Amino acid sequence: MKILLKNALILRDVRSEPEISDVLVKDGRIAAMGNLKGLIADEVYDMSGRLVMPGFVNAHTHAAMTLMRGLAEDLRLREWLTEKIFPIEEKLTEEDVYYGTMLAQLEMARRGVVAYADMYFHCDAVARAALDFGMKVLITRGLVDLDSDKGRLRQNIEYYERWNDRDGLIKVGFGPHAPYSCSTSYIDEIARVALDLEAPVMIHLYETAEEKYELRDLLETSLKYCKVLFAHCVHVKDEDIRLLAQENFFVVHNPTSNLKLGSGIAPVQKFLAAGVQVCLGTDGAASNNSLDVWHEMRLASLLQKLYDPRNISAEQALCMTIEQGAKAVGLTEGRIQVGADADLIVVDIDRPWYVPRSQIKNHIVHAGSSSDVFATMIKGRWVYYDGEYPTVDAEHVYKKCEEAIRRLTGTTS
Ligand SMILES: [Zn+2]
Repeated sequence: MKILLKNALILRDVRSEPEISDVLVKDGRIAAMGNLKGLIADEVYDMSGRLVMPGFVNAHTHAAMTLMRGLAEDLRLREWLTEKIFPIEEKLTEEDVYYGTMLAQLEMARRGVVAYADMYFHCDAVARAALDFGMKVLITRGLVDLDSDKGRLRQNIEYYERWNDRDGLIKVGFGPHAPYSCSTSYIDEIARVALDLEAPVMIHLYETAEEKYELRDLLETSLKYCKVLFAHCVHVKDEDIRLLAQENFFVVHNPTSNLKLGSGIAPVQKFLAAGVQVCLGTDGAASNNSLDVWHEMRLASLLQKLYDPRNISAEQALCMTIEQGAKAVGLTEGRIQVGADADLIVVDIDRPWYVPRSQIKNHIVHAGSSSDVFATMIKGRWVYYDGEYPTVDAEHVYKKCEEAIRRLTGTTS
């Protein structure tokens, strides 16, 4: 299968400047770039007036929480969790998680996301939803040991055995929920399993000011040697920031969720200055309430400019959202180059806010929005194209989600 995108303005990677080029996609990968006049393909698209760029990566979410979107507003994290979220999550079935995840993928594809990192449960459903839709996902099973439920780690290992590397779309990692819900010894046990399988770990870290534990203690476990995505990191002590500057560590900044739950603003500029690798996530739709990484990118830049307008250039913001996100999640290259999977988005730049064209990267971060996404391709397959979802029946997904929400909340209308 050959797909030819003609006459597009191409942003090959976040560090280069856009140029006019054709792109040939063959069997899921970028096969050729440049002037490909006269080349025959199965499908040809004229992309004049459009920008083709690497897709965004949502490096921290709980996809199926789309089912709880808008149900738990104006609360602090603890009340949000215990009063609203946990009671609903107790009732979630595998089918609910499948449709909730599918709903999340519909939204993310439409907003230009090609890969995401998820932490949830009923992970067989997450994997099936990703394969059915054609989206890339790093799956982690949320693990806690407050209830001595060690069976969950076994379950996470089974998910790894069943789904890791499936169709080039799925990676499975491990999801110790947080240092306040997992003992140090349990985190060490999980980390040793992850190291053995060369699988990444995702963990919430210092989301709120109430969390009392020492990062040093955590890094005395085997976690120090794992590839780790630390979500939030709002309240990392200044003297501890350098501990996160390791090649195998990534901080996932979730600015909207942190603001909406009143958790605070992560010291992103300090992280960057210390050489910490920072990428972006939306967190779940119950605390965001959208899965719009494009929006997070702009907000991440603006929040740091509050302290100094020289903080977080457009290129740095794009780098967090695409390049670092791709490195952290590990399923996509974060660039359009020959040999890489064709994970790309098409942005309609035939709009007033993309003029002048000479400053396109600044416009993407500070003037554009995810509603400018015209199409999203993952591994050479369109998963969103001009209002349509070629791989799934969106109306059916909406209907199943509405039914699930009525059952979960006990409402009949
Ligand atoms: Zn989270």
